[in-house]
Amino acid sequence: MITLKRVAWITILLVAVGCSKETAVLPTAVPETAVVVPTATAEIATIPPEPTNISTPEPTPFPPDLSLTAQDIFAFPNPEIYAGDLVTFQVMPFVSQTVVADDVSVHVMVDGYDVAAGTLNERNFSGDPRSVFAWAWDSSNHIGSHEVRVVLDRDDKIVVGDEDPTNNQAAITLMVLDPKDIPATEENATWVTADTSCCVIHTVSGTAAYRDLPNLVKVVDDAAAQAATRLNEQPQRKIDIYLIDRVIGQGGYAGSAIVASYLDRQYSGNSVHELLVHEITHIIDQQFAPHRLVFLAEGVAVWATGGHYKVEDLTERNAALLALGQNVPLAEMINNFYPVQHEIGYLQAGGFIEYLIDTYGWSTFRAFYSNTTLDDGATPAEAVDRNLQTYYNKSLAQMEAEWQDALRVLELGETAVLDLQTTIRFFDTMRHYQLLYDPTAHFLRAWIPQPKAVRTQGNPADLTRHPTAELNVTLEVMLEAANTAWRNGDYQRANVILDSVERVLDNNGTFIDPLATNYLNIVRKVTAVGYKVQSVTLQGDEAQLVVTLANKNGLLPINMRLVNRDWIILAN
Ligand SMILES: [Zn+2]
Repeated sequence: MITLKRVAWITILLVAVGCSKETAVLPTAVPETAVVVPTATAEIATIPPEPTNISTPEPTPFPPDLSLTAQDIFAFPNPEIYAGDLVTFQVMPFVSQTVVADDVSVHVMVDGYDVAAGTLNERNFSGDPRSVFAWAWDSSNHIGSHEVRVVLDRDDKIVVGDEDPTNNQAAITLMVLDPKDIPATEENATWVTADTSCCVIHTVSGTAAYRDLPNLVKVVDDAAAQAATRLNEQPQRKIDIYLIDRVIGQGGYAGSAIVASYLDRQYSGNSVHELLVHEITHIIDQQFAPHRLVFLAEGVAVWATGGHYKVEDLTERNAALLALGQNVPLAEMINNFYPVQHEIGYLQAGGFIEYLIDTYGWSTFRAFYSNTTLDDGATPAEAVDRNLQTYYNKSLAQMEAEWQDALRVLELGETAVLDLQTTIRFFDTMRHYQLLYDPTAHFLRAWIPQPKAVRTQGNPADLTRHPTAELNVTLEVMLEAANTAWRNGDYQRANVILDSVERVLDNNGTFIDPLATNYLNIVRKVTAVGYKVQSVTLQGDEAQLVVTLANKNGLLPINMRLVNRDWIILAN
């Protein structure tokens, strides 16, 4: 039996691109009602009361209580497990507010035998409780179907908040596949590293990052140079950067090392340079601000990068947010950063930091940033308020009003509002896709292990394997196409593609409209002849694709044409 070990990342900054985990803030950060678990009891609670008089009283339904469904259990690597993989289990039940999550016992059984036990002592970025049992079950010699059953509070010690003990367990079927069927690119997967001036790059053989490693050395060094210049601080040690072949959250995370997505079908649309500057900033700034607040840290990373997902005018972005009335009051945002709509949170944090630095200079900001900690107030916002008074002679409310006054007089560019709306929409749609079809990529569902531990104890596939079904490939190339259109300023096209993606998401994965059907038919046709589709540029009856061969990862271009309602591959 393996007892749950908490992977102790004191400060994990999940990118963007990022997010930061400061355990001290998280536990009460979000009301637990934010956890929407579609259990039967939750549905009962939402039924409106009967309008007419009923003579026989109905039995009082249980309030939403501690409960678990199959959808709350995740196994890694994900989604496939091949015999020989060490399997990690993540359990994310619904926990009512009256329950102390750390007191809830969790047992994981495979085919009736206990394989792991612990409590709900981890938190995600929203503060929702969970358990992670890393590498708890060795699937060697277990090809075939297995029942994974998870039981909460097996000894029934929780009473208040767990009124219905019958909903405390759930099971999933785990298929352990024959390793002879492992994809050729994943065969004998192993970690391969490269030293650069600033960093050590870690990649897994057979991945896009491994293929591009010679070019990535300069990319990484350039990103580190930008972060160091902006912070006026050189890194004191070499930085470990793990480039992984899947999307996690919005792109990556950083603690003592960096994990960043680098893959061909990059549906979260990150630019690798911006992603790396953001994450490297999170590493270097710890040298002079080891206890920095999440809101400030993310703001500094966005400012150092010069934008969030792309280089952008942060002042104009914030003026557009204000014009749209979508800005969030700073005190509210500082106290509860991650649950705020992601793009708004990061843009506002970056814009506010830029205002402080541009108006009052770097050295004052650096002192303020380094010395503002959670110990300075009852809430993070109070801590910021107190330190703004110390370093700037202004309260948080005064500084926010002054910043907004400066934004209001700004003349917005023609496309500023449309660009902002399309940005927010793209990422909301992307996260909707993740929740439905790539749930372990979603920032609230992702398992974010310390990469060194993965390298030494886990499987390379923990950080690389991801869903590759036809539906995933098609929606991902559509998201990537929407992202490209947005970056090129073609907002109309971006929104048309996003409409089409949302139609698929809202119709249980059915491709209905002609645009989505075209993408699907292209992916189907090309996959059938042995390619993996990485991107599709569709223009009327013509399509340009970038593909890889199923057993190699070199990129190939393919042209297609629609002839008599059939997509045909053109000879090069
Ligand atoms: Zn970040």
